[in-house]
Amino acid sequence: MRITNFFANTILKTKILGVFLSFTDILSKKESFMSDIYLNQTQFKAEIEKCLHCPSKPCEKACPAGVSPYDFINAALEGNFQKAGKLILQKNSLAEICGLVCPDRFCQKACLRAKIDCAINIPKVQAYIMKKYREYNFAENPSDEPKSQKLAIIGSGPAGISAASVLLKAGYMVEVFEKSSILGGALNMIPDIRLPKEIINAEWLNLVQHFPLIINTNHEINNPRSLLSQGFSGVIVAIGENKYRKLDIDGEILTINYNEYLLNPEKYKEFNNVAVVGGGAAAVDCTTTAHLNGAKKIEMFVRRRICDMRITAAERELLFKNQINITTMTRVTKIARDADKLIVYTCKTQFDDEGKLTDIPNTEIARKGFDLIVLALGSSAENLPKQSNNILFAGDCINGSSTAVQAVASGKKAANKLLDYLKFQDQTL
Ligand SMILES: Cc1cc2nc3c(=O)[nH]c(=O)nc-3n(C[C@H](O)[C@H](O)[C@H](O)COP(=O)(O)OP(=O)(O)OC[C@H]3O[C@@H](n4cnc5c(N)ncnc54)[C@H](O)[C@@H]3O)c2cc1C
Repeated sequence: MRITNFFANTILKTKILGVFLSFTDILSKKESFMSDIYLNQTQFKAEIEKCLHCPSKPCEKACPAGVSPYDFINAALEGNFQKAGKLILQKNSLAEICGLVCPDRFCQKACLRAKIDCAINIPKVQAYIMKKYREYNFAENPSDEPKSQKLAIIGSGPAGISAASVLLKAGYMVEVFEKSSILGGALNMIPDIRLPKEIINAEWLNLVQHFPLIINTNHEINNPRSLLSQGFSGVIVAIGENKYRKLDIDGEILTINYNEYLLNPEKYKEFNNVAVVGGGAAAVDCTTTAHLNGAKKIEMFVRRRICDMRITAAERELLFKNQINITTMTRVTKIARDADKLIVYTCKTQFDDEGKLTDIPNTEIARKGFDLIVLALGSSAENLPKQSNNILFAGDCINGSSTAVQAVASGKKAANKLLDYLKFQDQTL
């Protein structure tokens, strides 16, 4: 599918994510999720009033995208949501999404209020401001003088959208190539209760409405250089991580991967007893999805201890709330079929004297009765070709698994580097 600003009004009523939605539908449908996901007015007020206005702005320093909570909270305290929203958007074009999904290890961790009682929930404050900003319908910043050159972006995840936004605001025409039928990349794997899909689409559609942007979905590009010969003056490759880690054990073929599970949760509604192998954030999202799908028993198999799991406090809370059975210090050694059920073979693990994780001999047992086994072991990137002045890489494909805000920062950096190169080219012509 090809989406352009020229056809925006028609396309906005066209099939996005398999449902027919107008832009207003998208936003009103989004409202139904708001009560759980966004702070309410009282909570928002209580959060911003906690700000200590630290002159050294540790929160700004901790934000990968360079957003300054110190400044946007001050604007919000004055009741100026337009100013607050603009301050955020200048640094982060995916501001509402980052507000909803940013982990607690950036601005929130740096917040000095934690030394008195608890840190301000800065990401949620940002999401609240951006929601208000959108509701007030404040105008987008116009682009600089329109340029005749067109630039390409491969991939529509956070790095792609962030790069697109910088290039469009600098006046360039931008065309996005996305191999999937949906926009947003790995964000689509985040369960709706944390990030409704409608918000991801709304971010892209907002850009389509305001700027000369063409989006091609179902369009894979394997050779970025080929776009240069098609008249593009520069390409940003933001293709994320496509290779999913495996266990390399017998019976692995009987499992599914977390990307398949999280992208198509409705296909797996019939499964009552679900095993999730892995102890990271993606594994937690798989247990949440199983819970939402109505699974009666959900068990997580984790090689290390609970304290070693690289998850946020909110994710840990979700595991407890959803009564997930967490089997730690356990390695899955084999999977087998037993009539219409699956067996997970496990052995116990221990840390040896050097802190290395090893199997404990003679501890193998067979755990019977599973209906579905989901592997959530993380991912890695394809081997990338060399970068050049006008073919640049951004996001997880170059930095490894990160977060939405880090991908946004990386997309912005690549776009600015490309702009510098194009400016230099113009000056030397
Ligand atoms: C389950 C899960 C939960 C997560 N939860 C959080 C969270 O709570 N908070 C947070 O901050 N981060 C979270 N993340 C991480 C975050 O989603 C990623 O860091 C971010 O999406 C990376 O952005 P990106 O643009 O680099 O790549 P991606 O988002 O992976 O986007 C890459 C895009 O490129 C497309 N593509 C690939 N190859 C080609 C090609 N050859 N041609 C055209 N298109 C191509 C892909 O289809 C994809 O759409 C989560 C990730 C996962 C998997």
